[in-house]
Amino acid sequence: MARMAPPARVAVIGSGPAGIYAAEALVKQAGDEVRVDVFDRLPTPYGLVRYGVAPDHTSIKSIARYLQRVLEDPAVRFFGCVELGRDVTRADLLDCYDAVVYSTGAMVDRHMRIPGEDLPGSIAATDFVNWYCGHPDAADHEFDLSVEEVAVVGVGNVAVDVVRILARTAAELRATDVPEQVIEVLSRSRVRRIHMIGRRGPAQAKFTTKEARELGQLPDASIHVSPRDMELDPASAELAESDRHVRGNIKALSAWTGEPAAGSARHIDVRFWRAPVEILGTDRVEGLRLETTRLDESGRVTGTGEFETLPVGMVLRSVGYQSVPLEGVPFDERSFVVPNEGGRIVGPDGAFVPREYVAGWIKRGPSGVVGTNKSDAAETVRNLLADLADAGTAPERTIEELLESRGLPVVTYDDWLNLDAAEIALARRLDRGERVKLARWEAMRSACRGPA
Ligand code: NAP
Repeated sequence: MARMAPPARVAVIGSGPAGIYAAEALVKQAGDEVRVDVFDRLPTPYGLVRYGVAPDHTSIKSIARYLQRVLEDPAVRFFGCVELGRDVTRADLLDCYDAVVYSTGAMVDRHMRIPGEDLPGSIAATDFVNWYCGHPDAADHEFDLSVEEVAVVGVGNVAVDVVRILARTAAELRATDVPEQVIEVLSRSRVRRIHMIGRRGPAQAKFTTKEARELGQLPDASIHVSPRDMELDPASAELAESDRHVRGNIKALSAWTGEPAAGSARHIDVRFWRAPVEILGTDRVEGLRLETTRLDESGRVTGTGEFETLPVGMVLRSVGYQSVPLEGVPFDERSFVVPNEGGRIVGPDGAFVPREYVAGWIKRGPSGVVGTNKSDAAETVRNLLADLADAGTAPERTIEELLESRGLPVVTYDDWLNLDAAEIALARRLDRGERVKLARWEAMRSACRGPA
């Protein structure tokens, strides 16, 4: 890129993997010619690495250590507790920065649009995941685990996470970072049977094989899939031959078609070819009505007219995430992403919107693993820097001035390190794993201020 002095200023909105990989790419690709400010509405960085990756997936969680090095680069700053739309507007950002990258992810759950979805006991997986991951917005959510049977709808990796956490023992969970109040609730759980429901067949399951296999390795849970559910139509059978992912999944699932081991505390039933049609109950969930399905000639899922009801007291809807629109930023209401080409935002007139970019799930939808965001962010940054080289701008004011004039209680990177240290110290005090998360806003704010 052409030499620019002083360094270009770029704001990254969202400190999940996509945002931090974007900051890293900016520093790597532009060196001294750029300064990056990473904003988050929470006091904590790392987004889904902290609030999405399951607590028992410690190796994926260690990605936080890599992301931490980016935040510690002298060209990068962290601004926690600053929310776009509440504390700063899009116009403020465009006043203070040469360019803005939105990487706010996909924060809300998709809906199944069936009757009964709003009954108490019908829960979005996003809420449940946020709760056990210690997200402050979910810290006081209550889940009634006095029920014996639960249905988890969806056969993606989030559904697998949710099933695994429900099936783990309190002793196993104590070794993780889940908040103390979550352990308390999960250790009183009376859930005995967990149904995981796929609306298509085993060849169409979205989970990855490694994640699926973990379900079969739980110390105190048995697992079963009916041989009938494993039957494949000719197109799926071909996929099972030609596609490595499908072949791996079918192999993992086939290992569970025999008699399940007796004597486990919990049992997981994986069920394919079942589409939820209604959540039953008057004051709360009392059952889930399913229709048997098959794939039609064009590969679309279609009902067979055969129904059954599972006597579940809770339905966890794990049918995907979606992004939410950002005020003033174009948004495609059908695909739930910001229209873009290589991260350059495309306006309603089809032209690029100057100085505004996207990275991560809000750019491409909720797909891929954490690492997918690295190349995704690098692409956005290449385009951003090419545009900046062609049209350097001179921001009118600084973000420090603006935040100070509004008296916002910004959380700095050092404040976050105080919170980080408090969580590590809490784990030591409680004789639990490496960290125990603080989930309540007040506890987090107070820990940010450092030891008294
Ligand atoms: P996903 O992979 O898209 O899975 C969503 C599941 O919900 C699919 O089985 C889908 O079935 C089903 N579904 C959608 N609408 C439905 C409806 N109306 N009724 C019944 N079922 C419905 O989404 P996800 O599990 O939320 O995961 C999001 C992303 O995060 C994925 O890329 C995932 O791999 C990633 N992730 C990775 C990890 C990991 O690496 N360990 C952990 C968690 C998440 P159809 O296929 O029929 O639509």
